[in-house]
Amino acid sequence: MNRSFLRRFHTNAIFHRIRLEPSISQREIIERTGFDKSTVSSIVSHFAEMGLIERHPKPALNRRGRPSEGLQISRNSGLLVGVEVEASSVGFVACGLDGAVMSSHVSPFSGKLEGIEGFIRAGIEAVVAASGSDAPVLGVGVSLPGLVNRDGTLVHVPILGWRDVDILGRLKTVANAQVFVDNDGKAAAMAERMFGACTDIDDFVYLFSGSGVGGALFLDGEIYGGAHGLAGELGHIKIVPQGRFCSCGASGCLSAYLSESSLAQEIERLGGQAVTGFSSIMERAEAGDEIVLNVLDHAGEVLGSAVSSLINIFNPPVILLGGDLALAQPYLSTAMDRALLRLAHPAMYHRSTVRFSEISEGMPLLGGVAIALAGLTSLEGSHVLSNQSNLRHF
Ligand SMILES: [Zn+2]
Repeated sequence: MNRSFLRRFHTNAIFHRIRLEPSISQREIIERTGFDKSTVSSIVSHFAEMGLIERHPKPALNRRGRPSEGLQISRNSGLLVGVEVEASSVGFVACGLDGAVMSSHVSPFSGKLEGIEGFIRAGIEAVVAASGSDAPVLGVGVSLPGLVNRDGTLVHVPILGWRDVDILGRLKTVANAQVFVDNDGKAAAMAERMFGACTDIDDFVYLFSGSGVGGALFLDGEIYGGAHGLAGELGHIKIVPQGRFCSCGASGCLSAYLSESSLAQEIERLGGQAVTGFSSIMERAEAGDEIVLNVLDHAGEVLGSAVSSLINIFNPPVILLGGDLALAQPYLSTAMDRALLRLAHPAMYHRSTVRFSEISEGMPLLGGVAIALAGLTSLEGSHVLSNQSNLRHF
């Protein structure tokens, strides 16, 4: 481990310990993380100088009979903005440094790369104005629906037809703050690690569906990036040999069976009424539309097949299903469980828990916020999350 990696690792872990346990003392941080006293003290002082945290006296006395000092994240000293680019919409959210959402909105998006800087800048200004806060924006995180490598280059976005775009270069001036970019699956997994179901889980596989299907491998406290930060494209697991064509150019991918447009096409192919967007698929399912229910049941079967492979390969304690998968849980889970029982190795199946994300429903835009927070608390280093995250000691 080099020194700067170690420093990032310590700063991230200490910041999130304070966020998760408001009023924690320095001594308690040392106990929880196992870091040495001088490291904790120097990083806490640095955070306080930056205005990221506040110190306040705690009623309890410490071992020497002195009043102890509690630490908490400053609520009013800065804002984080999350931006989530999707095929036909862009979501914006403004949060405090503790991750509490202050304002959010979703704007329709043309899908054109040209002019995206101005579009995102205007969205950020609007969401910050709506937050009612005068605090400066300290970090912006942009989650993108495609492959993002460690240099901040968007390698390929099949659903938008974008290739080899220096997206970090384009977006780094959209706000007077540090801008961080990464893949949407990795961003959403990071949000689960910071704000969701996995704050205490070092190993999990995250799989989500939306306009595409993506995911991330969170292994041993880090997002696994592979050779160039691109690992974890779980939407392109091959499910059906010579199956449906996928937007990535191959065929038989999970995404070609689970994405919003694939479900819509299948509903139409089977003679169902045309649907517009995932919410209309859900409305029809709730109304008991047989064709829609059958399509979702088959999607659950396909999902179970993919998840069983993930269990058999990684045997993670948790597989977390997010995005539209979480919203469609009632219609997917029976067929998925059936497939899992049949296909996952029993010895591993009983040690892996498959869960549906809760923040996908209530706070779907937190991926960008998670990227911004991870970037900011690392204090230095890369503008691409998968090159720097390490939150093992949360
Ligand atoms: Zn594919």
